[in-house]
Amino acid sequence: MVKTIKNILERTTSQKRIILNYLKGVKTHPTADDVYREVRKKLPQISQATVYRILNNLKDKNEAQIILSKNTAHFDGDISMHAHFICNKCEGVYDILNECSNCSVIKNQKIKVGKINGYMIYFYGICNKCKK
Ligand SMILES: [Zn+2]
Ligand SMILES: [Zn+2]
Repeated sequence: MVKTIKNILERTTSQKRIILNYLKGVKTHPTADDVYREVRKKLPQISQATVYRILNNLKDKNEAQIILSKNTAHFDGDISMHAHFICNKCEGVYDILNECSNCSVIKNQKIKVGKINGYMIYFYGICNKCKK
């Protein structure tokens, strides 16, 4: 009995590790479905529900962040504070790091309602791919 629980825990841990590694290795900000499709190549047995549960868990534990476009939740294994560009047409999510070096200026500033510890900034527009 104890062994079974241990096996399940070990399995979940390795599934989690594979999903997190995938998220950290891509810059595409995949959706839950993208993650499921990709991870299934390595873990053919994994269910969609398990992938969703693990993604939620990663988000809750702050190991991954979630970015919401109009219709979709995207996941990002990069939890550093960085600004995102969201395309209004294809809902693609892009990191904009250097382009928004000024964003960090507001960090640690004291404002009327309190002190800022972090930020999350989304910019919206049409990406180059969609402009063509
Ligand atoms: Zn686009
Ligand atoms: Zn990002």
